[in-house]
Amino acid sequence: MSKIYDVIIIGAGPAGLSAGLYAGRARLSTLIIEKAKDGGQIVQTAEIENYPGSLEEESGPTLIERMSKQAAHFGAEKVFDTVLDVELQGDVKTIKCENGTYQGKTVIIAAGASPVNIGCPGEKEFTGKGVSYCATCDAAFFEDFEVYVVGGGDAAVEEAMYLTKFARKVTVIHRRNELRAAKSIQEKAFKNEKMDFMWDSVIKELKGDGLLSSMIVENTKTGEQREIVADEEDGLFGVFVFIGFKPQTEVFEGKLALEKGYIRTDDDMKTEIPGVFAAGDVRVKSLRQVVTAAADGAIAAVQAGKYIEEHE
Ligand code: NAP
Repeated sequence: MSKIYDVIIIGAGPAGLSAGLYAGRARLSTLIIEKAKDGGQIVQTAEIENYPGSLEEESGPTLIERMSKQAAHFGAEKVFDTVLDVELQGDVKTIKCENGTYQGKTVIIAAGASPVNIGCPGEKEFTGKGVSYCATCDAAFFEDFEVYVVGGGDAAVEEAMYLTKFARKVTVIHRRNELRAAKSIQEKAFKNEKMDFMWDSVIKELKGDGLLSSMIVENTKTGEQREIVADEEDGLFGVFVFIGFKPQTEVFEGKLALEKGYIRTDDDMKTEIPGVFAAGDVRVKSLRQVVTAAADGAIAAVQAGKYIEEHE
């Protein structure tokens, strides 16, 4: 724990890697802490067509691989570790992780967001065995099977339409009787012959013997419950969950001002604690995209450099 880095970046998604690139290029000693693997949500995206400069062949993993290499090329170090606690006040910030404790003059929080779970019995048990949060990752496993999609927003309806390219039938299970998704998306969905809608419904339990093969669905208006069982020949079905995202900020609760879990910053990515910045999906902002995450990371790193200069 002897080294005090100029910049510690929490998270290696587009915001964290962009911050790493900018901090490294500015010759700041930089450490990126990532809990699982680089990329965050973007690694689950098969096609990226809205990041400037990305053409047809670009996927989340290919873009992230280049971003990671670029940050490393400019000297940003990386450890794979999970943050357990942080001490953000004072001139030296301390980040306690499962496998070590790291110190820095500045911290850039780029921890991202993760999918919201249904929270019903069986959901964890059947994740990867019928339950998925990523159509582009798992749709191919359900070629000619029946699939259910939970949610009524843009993501749920768009992903449901994508799933119709693989599945025999896709049923959207929504807790109300009208979709939240944009009207243009709804129009396409209602025209899609492979799609069906189960209104005023929520999943109460997911069940099976190794693989997901039945579920209890409750009508939110009548309270009536019924069991949906997989077609006998199929033996399983898929449940794809798209009910929003939540910021990964549990570890910062009580340490920083949070708004619905997201970190508040100014336009320079500064939080209310001097030397602590936030970038990407983890902060309060109006557009959560790769391009805005990357921009945030760049701004945060430049501001971290300025903060260090002013404090030396
Ligand atoms: P969202 O717009 O917040 O929609 C979440 C959906 O999940 C809502 O229909 C909500 O129901 C439902 N829901 C929430 N909690 C639930 C629970 N516990 N059980 C059952 N259902 C639940 O989230 P999103 O679709 O992930 O989109 C997030 C943002 O990204 C939005 O701003 C969206 O416009 C944007 N986005 C845009 C595009 C696009 O433009 N192509 C694509 C994807 C996402 P209620 O409707 O009843 O609240």
